[in-house]
Amino acid sequence: MKIMSVNAGSSSLKFQLLLMPEEKEIASGIVERIGNKNAEFTLKFNGTKKQQKDLVILDHSVAVDLVINGLLENGIISSLEEINGVGHRVVQGGELFKDSAVIDDEVVLKIASLNDLAPLHNPAHIIGINAFRKALPNVIQVAVFDTVFHQTMPQENFLYATPYEWYEKYGVRKYGAHGTSHQYVSQIAHNRLGKEDSKIIVCHIGNGASISAIRAGKSIDTSMGLTPLEGIPMGTRSGNIDPAVFLLMSQKEGYSLEKTLNELNRASGYLGVSGLSHDSRDIVDAAHAGNHRAQLAIDIQAKRIADYIGSYYVLLEGLDALCFTAGIGENAKEVREAVCKRLEVLGIKLDLEKNNSRGEAEISSDDSKVKVWVIPTNEEVMIARDVIRLGKK
Ligand code: AMP
Repeated sequence: MKIMSVNAGSSSLKFQLLLMPEEKEIASGIVERIGNKNAEFTLKFNGTKKQQKDLVILDHSVAVDLVINGLLENGIISSLEEINGVGHRVVQGGELFKDSAVIDDEVVLKIASLNDLAPLHNPAHIIGINAFRKALPNVIQVAVFDTVFHQTMPQENFLYATPYEWYEKYGVRKYGAHGTSHQYVSQIAHNRLGKEDSKIIVCHIGNGASISAIRAGKSIDTSMGLTPLEGIPMGTRSGNIDPAVFLLMSQKEGYSLEKTLNELNRASGYLGVSGLSHDSRDIVDAAHAGNHRAQLAIDIQAKRIADYIGSYYVLLEGLDALCFTAGIGENAKEVREAVCKRLEVLGIKLDLEKNNSRGEAEISSDDSKVKVWVIPTNEEVMIARDVIRLGKK
């Protein structure tokens, strides 16, 4: 069975075609700069990478046709009937979705009703969904929400201490994100621990980054909030700040609310502190070369990640496993070391030798009270699993 996992952004369309239930990648790719005359299509399969540049791709429907034709022309599928289902990543499911959903007109309307909570993401997902529904009208399409896994958070953990009416009228609360990744990684950790009441913290640290506390397989708290801006500092996002910054920047620089929000989303984090780059590889290299602000960017992030881990340790009443995942969590041993160094008071000890390993690994020392694992995430597989699960219902 072949399932397509799709992540549609405002000007991009990423996809992976998976063989299920084997969970093997058949092909993957991305269409970038949709809406422009210099769009690009990259297709990877069988160890081959094919790239088409300077394409005129005016909208997502054209991009979807391009992807499907690419699969056909390269013999990756011999007919459209070979695609048995499509799963779409959707960032915001609000309180409307407690599980993934088979897409119909009503589900699309519900996703659209949440646009205010994810203005950069949900409208783009809908465009992607509509384009795939048009291209593959007889194939099951499923929406898989980043927020669903965190819907098990208790009220005292997801509510802000703001006027209650803001929550009632406008849904102002913490929703979290990266749920599909937190679920995938924590399921592996939970099964490996082999106990019902497992206590797990997952650090998903990529360009976007979030930490979650998972008890007995259920998310009970997470660091991202109403939007993915809350929590720890990231590639370009500030994470938590005092909201009074908005007034100060307006008074000092005449910044509008949108301008300050944009700076907090796009010009902060690694990039803002270092003044160099949003990419952890550049930051780590510069820190090694003695750049103070690059080192500071790593230290501020590590400190704030450790703060979350400390607070989740208390919330979980202990900890069995600490898991690192995503681009930085899986690859940047320097970041893992900087975080774990601050956790020794909790009995968490890294084995520096094991921390050098690549891919899935146990990196804690034998006498660590908590297992520390690197577990590569796979959101595409989680999405494909949900397409199959809901297809059976
Ligand atoms: P993601 O958003 O999960 O794709 O992660 C992107 C981040 O992962 C970027 O900051 C990359 O620099 C970082 N990253 C990817 N590969 C490596 C690597 N080999 N070493 C350090 N950081 C990496």
